[in-house]
Amino acid sequence: MLNYKKCIKEKINQMRCLVTGGSGLVGRYLSDIMQDATYISSDDFDLRSAKETKDMMIAHKPEVVVHLAARVGGIIDNINYPVDYFEENTLINMNVLQACHKFKVDRVISILSTCIYPDKADTYPMREKDLFNGPPTPTNFSYAFSKRCMAAHIDAYVKQYNKKWCYLIPCNLYGKYDKYGDHNSHFVSALIKKIYYADNSIELWGTGKPLRQFMLGSDLAKVIKYMINNCIVDNFNVAPNFVYSIKEIAEIGKKVCEKENLEISFDYTKPDGQFRKDVDSSKLLSIFKDFEFTGLEKGIKEVYDNFSQRHN
Ligand code: NAP
Repeated sequence: MLNYKKCIKEKINQMRCLVTGGSGLVGRYLSDIMQDATYISSDDFDLRSAKETKDMMIAHKPEVVVHLAARVGGIIDNINYPVDYFEENTLINMNVLQACHKFKVDRVISILSTCIYPDKADTYPMREKDLFNGPPTPTNFSYAFSKRCMAAHIDAYVKQYNKKWCYLIPCNLYGKYDKYGDHNSHFVSALIKKIYYADNSIELWGTGKPLRQFMLGSDLAKVIKYMINNCIVDNFNVAPNFVYSIKEIAEIGKKVCEKENLEISFDYTKPDGQFRKDVDSSKLLSIFKDFEFTGLEKGIKEVYDNFSQRHN
């Protein structure tokens, strides 16, 4: 870990920070707690374009870049559009990193995902060293490889140019800022919406058996803010140590949303995705010693209450 000396708190607070993907789930949680950064969406600059990425750098002259922008989607979208996932993400990441180099951006914090870890591992939870130890799951293979390319690209910049750049590897996320469309929300957010509208029953995809770690988006935002304020430059997993099956998560959801009578059924014709991909966060916890993840019960309740308020 690099905790570089010149980066004292006063200086970092004066640094111009730019967040790509600022209109997304993580970006909006970050803007709640870090108001002095600039938040960019695809309406401002299309980062698939090298020229627009360069224009963004010229307009904002950032010294710190939090790179969140990505094409992110559910399992069916990943299966149906693997070329788009590979090309869009590779273009965005290539343009952003090259521009950060050209415009001498001091710090870059970029985001990978635990779904880019190997489909199968010898032991769980997986650690950072396991990232490239086998092919990713077939259902998001091209998205995963595009993210792995970004990791290799950042590692290469660190090696060749001694950059203070790094990446985080978070697990699946959920939150009030998630998309709540029928095809693009993540499992827990989609579950909350289903529970809210259901009278008697809800149907979930697959067998309900896959194991998942789910994190509230605000937890990841806190980690990013802490890294910036404390000049942390390191690559590590960010995931709570609780792992539940999809069925268990649905049961927790029913309970905390006070809809215990709902029946849960499973559509076995739909894919499960990767069986498990749980990761170890001891590196994070050795850096951010008093960090506490939001429990799933508390997080689901918070997001459900927010969803209810907005849809009542
Ligand atoms: P999100 O809600 O889908 O938001 C994506 C963001 O990227 C939006 O701000 C979007 O802008 C922007 N974007 C997409 N294409 C763009 C383009 N061509 N040019 C400029 N901006 C573009 O994503 P998120 O859930 O916040 O995810 C943030 C990061 O965490 C991503 O790198 C993702 O891979 C990673 N991650 C997410 C999860 C998860 O479960 N959500 C889990 C692990 C890792 P518009 O709003 O204008 O479209």
